[in-house]
Formats: sequence, C-alpha cells, structure tokens
Amino acid sequence: MSDNCIFCKIGRGEIPSRKVYEDDEVFAFHDINPVAPVHFMLIPKQHLVSLLEVEEQHAALLGRMLLLAPKLAREQGLENGFRTVINSGKGGGQEVFHLHIHVIGGGNIPPMVKRS
Ligand code: AMP
Ligand code: ZN
Repeated sequence: MSDNCIFCKIGRGEIPSRKVYEDDEVFAFHDINPVAPVHFMLIPKQHLVSLLEVEEQHAALLGRMLLLAPKLAREQGLENGFRTVINSGKGGGQEVFHLHIHVIGGGNIPPMVKRS
C-alpha cells in the first residue's frame, strides 16, 4: 500500500472508477482515457511499482492476473481477441507507477509496431 498512489486508492475504493472486477488481490477498472472501444486495466491491490520490481514471491499473483485477462476481456465483449500492454518504467513509457496490465480491444486494433 502506498498513500500517494492513485491506483492504490482506486483499488481501495477511495477514488471512484468504473469497476470491471474485484477480488481480494486484484482490481480491474476502465481506463479514463481509452484508446479503443474497450480499454480496462488489471492491477494488484498490493502496491507493486512495475515489472522491474517484481520477485519470485509475486509469481502466483502475476499468473492470476494473466489468467483473469482473457476471462474479463470476454465478459467485456472481446470475443475475437485483445491486446495486453504492460509499460514498465520510464523507459517503457509508464506514467502511473503501480503495476497494471492494459487490456485493449474492439474496433480496429492496428499492428503495434509499424515497420517502414
Ligand atoms: P501507463 O502509461 O501504462 O502508466 O498507463 C496509465 C494509464 O492510466 C493511462 O492509460 C491513463 O489513461 C490511466 N489513468 C490514469 N488515471 C486514471 C484514473 N483515475 N482512472 C482510470 N484510468 C486512469
Ligand atoms: Zn499503488
């Protein structure tokens, strides 16, 4: 838990969000600035900064989050697939420093890397 972390506060229900899912360890909510018709994020309720900080002890939690992604994506109508994005650290473009898995889909999802 981190007092000044916006995603910790969302996970505790102290800041409103459009909730997708919640259990003891994981919270999922719609992105406030979606890049596609469906765009939500999975976070651990526990404050983990990014994949750069995770350790062996977090393996089960990370596995649970990855297993939840397709289940929640289907529930949100993404029957044909989805994109997952995990930005890690400043070098990965991370803006909110509480680990989160973006789940993105619907509409036209372009190739992620454009090659010229
Ligand atoms: P990242 O660049 O991977 O750190 O992504 C952070 C994401 O959090 C962005 O897509 C933001 O739109 C999203 N975001 C920031 N604040 C909120 C909030 N209060 N509720 C929902 N999504 C948020
Ligand atoms: Zn946090």
